[in-house]
Amino acid sequence: MTVGEAQDFSRFFSAEAKARKSSPLKTCIHLFQDPNITFLGGGLPLSKYFPWDNLKVESPLPPFKNGIGHPPSGDAEDTCLVHVRRDETTKAGDTIDVPLSRALQYGHSQGQPEVLSFVREHTGLVHDMKYSDWDVMATTGNTGAWESTLRIFCEKGDTILTEQHTFSSSIYAAEAQGINVFPVPLDDNGIIPERLEYILDNWNPEAKKPKLLYTIPTGQNPTGSSLSDDRKAEIYRIAQKHDFLILEDEPYYFLQMDKYEQDVSKRKTTTFDSHADFIASLTKSFISLDTEGRVIRADSFSKVLGPGTRLGWIVASKQIVSTYVRLHEMTIQNPSGFSQSIVGGTLNRWGQDGYLDWLIGLRVEYNEKRDVAIDALHKYLPETPIFHVNPPIAGMFFTISIDTSKHPEFASKYLSKPELVEQAIYEKMIESGVLIVPGAWFKADGDTQPPQPAENKKELDPTRIFFRGTFAAVPLDKLQEGIKKVGVALKQEFQL
Ligand code: PLP
Repeated sequence: MTVGEAQDFSRFFSAEAKARKSSPLKTCIHLFQDPNITFLGGGLPLSKYFPWDNLKVESPLPPFKNGIGHPPSGDAEDTCLVHVRRDETTKAGDTIDVPLSRALQYGHSQGQPEVLSFVREHTGLVHDMKYSDWDVMATTGNTGAWESTLRIFCEKGDTILTEQHTFSSSIYAAEAQGINVFPVPLDDNGIIPERLEYILDNWNPEAKKPKLLYTIPTGQNPTGSSLSDDRKAEIYRIAQKHDFLILEDEPYYFLQMDKYEQDVSKRKTTTFDSHADFIASLTKSFISLDTEGRVIRADSFSKVLGPGTRLGWIVASKQIVSTYVRLHEMTIQNPSGFSQSIVGGTLNRWGQDGYLDWLIGLRVEYNEKRDVAIDALHKYLPETPIFHVNPPIAGMFFTISIDTSKHPEFASKYLSKPELVEQAIYEKMIESGVLIVPGAWFKADGDTQPPQPAENKKELDPTRIFFRGTFAAVPLDKLQEGIKKVGVALKQEFQL
């Protein structure tokens, strides 16, 4: 299928982004590699003064026959050895490694060619892009990508839309820049498109309209919900109708699982006959629906390889990517060279197939963790409609939503205020030796100036609160033990 080019979205750029010039020094840095040029132009230290001569790291070898989570033995049959040398032997991009003389030098703000080419090919395989001039850029992960996004698109006083409960760092990063974070209600299947459309159709005409929707479509943090493909298409249509951009923050994209099956005898983990089958099983991304270039996708290696890699990437139109590159030239310059050498060297040896094998292996692990968590919730939570658990189909989080109005002392002790019940439950959990996190910590509740009509901020279920727990962080026995404590504490609190 032939696809068209992205549209020009420069009208959304902030004054800061429009004012930022490309650093002239960065425009000639590639000549540093040119043997015909005597490069006297920049403050680049000679690579022989980098103390590191070579770098060896071992990881397991695809196809990870015994699953992931087994350290390599060092033998060739199960060990992938990355040996990165100091010096370039061929032109940048012709080898599979980022040599240390280049990785540890200035330059390549967009990312090292060997990392970018892997990530580009991966993006093409997974997302079936619908316009031709897209590109990728290496980031320090999605936290940094979001901070850059705010700087590129938003001014003080602008409003962005987010899920009603969302990753608190993302809210605080926006608020710190004077940006209003306006909530959109969500349910077990993510943002409710009808509510989003209602809010925008009834937007107070005296207030600037939102430029951007920030969303975590898969394994949403904190609710654990995942947006269905139908809803994504609806939301994309609404973005076109009301002309805003979509930032999909997708660190949990590859932690997708089977639907939870309570009956253990019917439970089976899906296996895939081919990588194409695995890719076909994945939920559609916003970027794969995007025919215009109005979606920016932030991907991260944090949850699939390790948070300390501080490495991720964005996918967007070339116009938008180059605006991020100009910002990075003046802020982070680029993600760590060590990280790019190690991750790039590993992934280029694993190959696209090996990386997909790794992701399939992770899926198996998270399926099991999710099942153990939800089984334990069914076992230990008192059986009553007061409590609701939505078994996640992706990510690391489960939530227990609680109807506070059913608390025996809701009116007398807690003055009919759900937030007071929430605080009391939180304290009770700590007393019981378990930590789960109140949903209120993730609440977006900004408003425009002048404000939106009250109906736009209507709570769908005002007496319900929720707590977020994770099944990712502890071994399975500890997980069951923790959930038992939660069940006992809730039973006591609600006098059941
Ligand atoms: N975005 C969301 C929704 C998250 O839940 C997290 C981590 O908890 C991050 C971003 C941070 O990602 P990174 O490590 O890539 O900065």
